[in-house]
Amino acid sequence: MRCDELAPLIEAIADGTIEPSPEDRAHVSSCPTCSARLAAARRIEEWLSAREVAQPAAGFTAAVMARIGDETWKTERVVDIGFNLFIAAGVLVFMAFGAGLAWSLGFLTVTLDTEQLLRAVFAQVEGRVISQLQTTAIAAVVLTMALALWWWAEEATD
Ligand SMILES: [Zn+2]
Repeated sequence: MRCDELAPLIEAIADGTIEPSPEDRAHVSSCPTCSARLAAARRIEEWLSAREVAQPAAGFTAAVMARIGDETWKTERVVDIGFNLFIAAGVLVFMAFGAGLAWSLGFLTVTLDTEQLLRAVFAQVEGRVISQLQTTAIAAVVLTMALALWWWAEEATD
């Protein structure tokens, strides 16, 4: 009974992790089985501690940590760019919708001024061509603003 209780503790006693109680000590010194177990465990412990522990090459830890940091940075970078592109795309759609709405309601005064100017300059040009120019101008403005916002988001992230 005493041997079974002591068996799981033999290794810890051998490597000094736990201090055996006086009762354990008394039992080990009087029990051939437990004293043999403890002696074997101590031999293994000595053999293990005498073995050379492989030393990593100089700078190994630093190199690994740098590599991990680099990978993390790359991943975060990709996420950042993806997020910014997603935001830019969302803003682009929103602005295109807003511009289209303002255009259809006649609230886009800047474009209306452009229309007046273009009408004066190209008096003989068909209205259809003018509306195409307006569409192109709106698209250019929206795209420029989206790119400016994307650039701003990139700057804000860095
Ligand atoms: Zn015993």
